[in-house]
Amino acid sequence: MSAPLIDKYRKMASFDWKKLKAVVEGEEHVRLKAEVVAKMKSEPIFHRDYRVLSREEQREVVHQRWKKIVEWGLFKDPYSDLENFKALTETLEAYDQGTSARLFLHGNVFGAAVKSMGTERHKELVEKIENNEIVGAFCLTEIGHGSNTAEVQTTATFDDGQLVFNCPSIGAIKCWAGNLSHSATHVVVYAQLHVGGKNEGLHGFVIQVRCPKTFQTFPGITIGDMGSKPGCWQGVENGWMEFKNHRAPLSALLNKGCDITPDGKYVTSFKSASEKQSVSLGTLSVGRLGIIAKGMMACTFASTIAIRYSVARRQFGPEKGAENEIPVLEYPLQQYRLFPYLSAAICIRIFQKTKCYRFVEKFTEYMMRVMVGEKSEELSEFSKEVHALSSGAKPVATWLGVESLGEARKACGGHGFLHMSRLNTLRDDNDPSQTFEGENFMILQQTSNILLGKVASIGLINTPMSTMTFLNSKPSKFSSWTSDPVNDALSAYRYLTYHLLQTTSSEANKLKQSGKNSFEVRNEIQVHRAVNLSIAYTEHTMIDWVQKFVEDVEDVTLKGVLQKVLNLFSLFLLERHLATLYITGYASGGKFGEELREKLRKAVADVKPESMALVDSIAPDDFILNSALGASDGKAYDHIMEEFRKYTNEQPRWVCDLAQFLQKRSQSSKL
Ligand SMILES: Cc1cc2nc3c(=O)[nH]c(=O)nc-3n(C[C@H](O)[C@H](O)[C@H](O)COP(=O)(O)OP(=O)(O)OC[C@H]3O[C@@H](n4cnc5c(N)ncnc54)[C@H](O)[C@@H]3O)c2cc1C
Repeated sequence: MSAPLIDKYRKMASFDWKKLKAVVEGEEHVRLKAEVVAKMKSEPIFHRDYRVLSREEQREVVHQRWKKIVEWGLFKDPYSDLENFKALTETLEAYDQGTSARLFLHGNVFGAAVKSMGTERHKELVEKIENNEIVGAFCLTEIGHGSNTAEVQTTATFDDGQLVFNCPSIGAIKCWAGNLSHSATHVVVYAQLHVGGKNEGLHGFVIQVRCPKTFQTFPGITIGDMGSKPGCWQGVENGWMEFKNHRAPLSALLNKGCDITPDGKYVTSFKSASEKQSVSLGTLSVGRLGIIAKGMMACTFASTIAIRYSVARRQFGPEKGAENEIPVLEYPLQQYRLFPYLSAAICIRIFQKTKCYRFVEKFTEYMMRVMVGEKSEELSEFSKEVHALSSGAKPVATWLGVESLGEARKACGGHGFLHMSRLNTLRDDNDPSQTFEGENFMILQQTSNILLGKVASIGLINTPMSTMTFLNSKPSKFSSWTSDPVNDALSAYRYLTYHLLQTTSSEANKLKQSGKNSFEVRNEIQVHRAVNLSIAYTEHTMIDWVQKFVEDVEDVTLKGVLQKVLNLFSLFLLERHLATLYITGYASGGKFGEELREKLRKAVADVKPESMALVDSIAPDDFILNSALGASDGKAYDHIMEEFRKYTNEQPRWVCDLAQFLQKRSQSSKL
């Protein structure tokens, strides 16, 4: 039974939301996700409420849930079973990022690192990882170094056929590693490898840190927890680890492409330190790609909760009287604040996951070619392109995601601030996605570096995914708007990216000629130039891929609604570059900007009648959503009151103390 008003909005739509869901997500994906949800609903450990758990309680719940998923055998390797992997990932990420972090840090971060950097001698360990006989953590970050991974200070010194691990200073103590505080039996740890008195640079190692029976740490290793954190991260065991002369066998070295002979000689097939570093840190790209989906999920939650609540919430009206009040969703300003994130939820999903254009599929193809040891010029180009795009899309998606939750919370007014809305908690849950697996501003530099490397070959750029080929020809300036806002937006983006590439490159050359070294040059070209270049390139690719997807949709009603969604997404993103478009000379006078804004307002209005069905097409099951404000029945007040009533006439213990205190005050005033 749902509230009549929400149904009225549902009936306004021009399309069938279930059909749209099937087209955007794929029928198999929808079915597999429903299976995971049904399993979770049937198990008491996955029961949901709005209680705030202590750190200890949350850790235990996460542990029990993790155990259940492992016992169910639901956790799959993405390379052997991508569809099941995606279904589980998405459901868990939406349910509780803390539980999913426990699984993925073990399988997809720790496990992937052992697989990609290890060799035959790590085969037995890989089997244990896949069988969940051990628990793994990934220890790269130190107190003193995060982004600058090359300078981590932990050392691994070859000594008498073994490796001796040390943290020479407080700054060298490992930290932030998930799963480490209480559970990890093994870790992948990054350290500077010293052999025969020479530092051979950053290397990955896999070592056992605890006895799996007693959970006591091994000699020379101290491990602790990092204390309380916001949101779901309270349930994640982010730990610190200090080494003092910890001795590990030589086999700890993850020796793909390098090794130490038993008599203590370092040998390597890497041609340069940067090649070695790109292999040892390559696994981070996998995580980066997954994090794009965190941005998509954040936009999904924000728009689902806030748009459904905006129908239940009525304030003001054309005439006096509560019966004349209108849903706040009717206000164009509320629509302008929320609908762009609804469009972002759909477009980022299509960009990242939807068949044919999905980035995940292209990335998986790339990783498989790397894993079988392929070496070709085309693959190296593929690698650069994948890296440029994932390093741009992760910031664009996660910034949009966190921003959407903040906007949704404000758009829900005071009730949005309640824990039971879930909006602030979700904001906390998603916040670190802007930082981990590469701090957003840092990794945008990797995108711009790759793009700047293409300047010399303009005219001949030919990348495997064709995301950079448009840079071969000089785009023209704005002349007039056409009836296709997406093509218009893409033209503007092409100009913007091309121009930013040229200006960033010429600025870099000027700085070089003025005597600045390459470090200074890189730093000085970031603000207004390289950062914007990376964002423009990424957004252009996102819009371009979604447009290609929409072109291929056969069902006319679905094509129509997706076109409206993409119109809004393109214009919403483009508006953010308005100043740069004018500065770079794309347009002059007010016409371009005025019309862009007019088209944006129209795109928002066009989405309004479709909005509730669009929400239904992306919304997770109510059990997963777990928001009193965003439930699919539209009965926000009933759900809010149901929760309020749990706290009726509460009398905490200290009320007696209050009564005594008041009595004392009144007696002393009478004296
Ligand atoms: C919840 C959570 C979980 C995590 N899990 C793990 C884990 O499992 N394993 C692990 O090893 N690590 C983990 N991390 C650590 C994470 O990877 C690092 O925090 C991240 O890489 C950023 O590094 P940093 O914190 O040192 O930031 P810093 O590098 O100190 O950055 C601080 C600021 O300086 C800026 N800055 C730095 N250098 C430059 C530059 N050259 N130019 C311009 N600006 C610059 C950055 O943009 C940023 O704004 C986790 C972190 C969090 C929050």
